Amino acid sequence: MDKNIRICIVGGGPAGLSAGMYLEKKGYENYTILERSDRVGGKCWSPHYNGKRYEMGAIMGVPSYYAVHDVEEFCGITHDGPKLNRNYKDAKGNVIEPFEPKKNPLKIPRLLKMKKQVKKFGELLETKYKGYDLNGHRGVAQGRYDGYAVTPNREKVEGYNQNLKDLALPFKDFCEMNGCELVQDIWIGPYTSFGYGYFDEIPAAYVLKYLDFQTTMNFVKVNLWTWEQGTQYIWEQLNDHIKHPARLNSEITKVERKDGKVFVTVNGEVEEYDKIIVTAPLYVADGNMGCNNGMVDYFDAREDEKELFSKIDYERYTVQAFTTTPENHPEISYYVFDNMVPEKLGHLMVYYRRWRESIDQVITTYALRTHKRMKEIPYEKCNEMVLEDLKTMHNPAKEVINKWSVYYFPHVSCEDYAAGWYDKVEAMQGKYDTYYAGEVMSFGDMDETAEYSRELVERFF
Ligand SMILES: Cc1cc2nc3c(=O)[nH]c(=O)nc-3n(C[C@H](O)[C@H](O)[C@H](O)COP(=O)(O)OP(=O)(O)OC[C@H]3O[C@@H](n4cnc5c(N)ncnc54)[C@H](O)[C@@H]3O)c2cc1C
Repeated sequence: MDKNIRICIVGGGPAGLSAGMYLEKKGYENYTILERSDRVGGKCWSPHYNGKRYEMGAIMGVPSYYAVHDVEEFCGITHDGPKLNRNYKDAKGNVIEPFEPKKNPLKIPRLLKMKKQVKKFGELLETKYKGYDLNGHRGVAQGRYDGYAVTPNREKVEGYNQNLKDLALPFKDFCEMNGCELVQDIWIGPYTSFGYGYFDEIPAAYVLKYLDFQTTMNFVKVNLWTWEQGTQYIWEQLNDHIKHPARLNSEITKVERKDGKVFVTVNGEVEEYDKIIVTAPLYVADGNMGCNNGMVDYFDAREDEKELFSKIDYERYTVQAFTTTPENHPEISYYVFDNMVPEKLGHLMVYYRRWRESIDQVITTYALRTHKRMKEIPYEKCNEMVLEDLKTMHNPAKEVINKWSVYYFPHVSCEDYAAGWYDKVEAMQGKYDTYYAGEVMSFGDMDETAEYSRELVERFF
């Protein structure tokens, strides 16, 4: 492709900014990043409080965040944040140690069985499901793998493995089918409480591409990365280091693709490009969530785009930041496993104490409001439920200082996954001078989105 082509990138979150970085690294310098809001980072949002930054969005990474590491190297920064640590509580607010045999003598047989199943699961993933952990979903529904290895060098790998079709099953069914149902006790912590849905509804592919065996073990060992200035800082730094920082407050009202050109109306003015990369939401089902539209609403969307993107669903993940009195400040972050089941929808699943050394900082809470077979919990009601739960946990809030419920983890259903949704969308890449990136194309975390942008540039530019 001609290195001088004019490329428009929609969205200044991790996906959009890293697309800019990887384009630039490959010699494409004629790109423009259009960001609708007044800041970069998207769901990496780290506001200030009492001289420190707390996290309303992304919190952590793992050592296999290779794309995030590329960004760190590009900007000369590192993961220098406070060490993560956590404990567990039951729904009554008692501190528990669910994985400690000595504290749970009655559970010893189950814990031993779980340990064996985790080992078996790891082996199955390496053998029966070879190729399961590549970034993105190309070929999976057809029993193929096609992508780049999750290694620092990201070697290109491809091949056939019919077993990969099982990844379209709900994760719960996938585990049961493989005789490893107890591994869900381990995977649920960094999955459901992080807002990515319940195991009886979400395709195993999403669970395992994010929480591949190695990553899950990093969570178990709390071998995790954080950033002192918050995850937003990573993307602020990237924005400062690329040649063309994102243009903030860019309201795109229309995108027309004709005669091999892309005409983008930004803040009332028409701009001409050759290609466009969309990292902003492709479709937003009910047009709210502070993200009132998807690409299909302001583009001259074609029938295939409308048809495919209308299948995208997302999670309603709710975060509140609160202060406490000193005596009510939690000692550490807590996971509440009892609340990670659909029957406890809308309840507090985890709360995070970021700054262990100070008690003048805020604590953040996390709850899910949707399950596909249940009625959505309204936003305000969920917030009230969480505040009640904090009282039960013996850490009542003094004042809520921030909250949002965000368009989270766009994904497709097991049925659409099995029917080859990803291969149909991948076949459309570039067709209308348009490329689709961002969370839905891989997974809703910083690294998978940045990595997908890397691959997109590698494959098409
Ligand atoms: C509470 C919470 C906790 C999380 N925890 C973690 C974690 O611990 N680790 C992790 O790796 N990830 C975590 N994530 C997920 C991570 O933040 C996202 O997956 C990542 O930010 C996705 O990047 P993106 O660029 O695809 O999308 P986004 O971050 O959503 O960025 C999209 C950008 O596009 C802009 N935009 C939208 N529409 C338009 C438009 N029409 N025109 C122009 N711009 C537009 C938005 O303003 C935004 O800046 C968390 C997210 C949340 C909310």
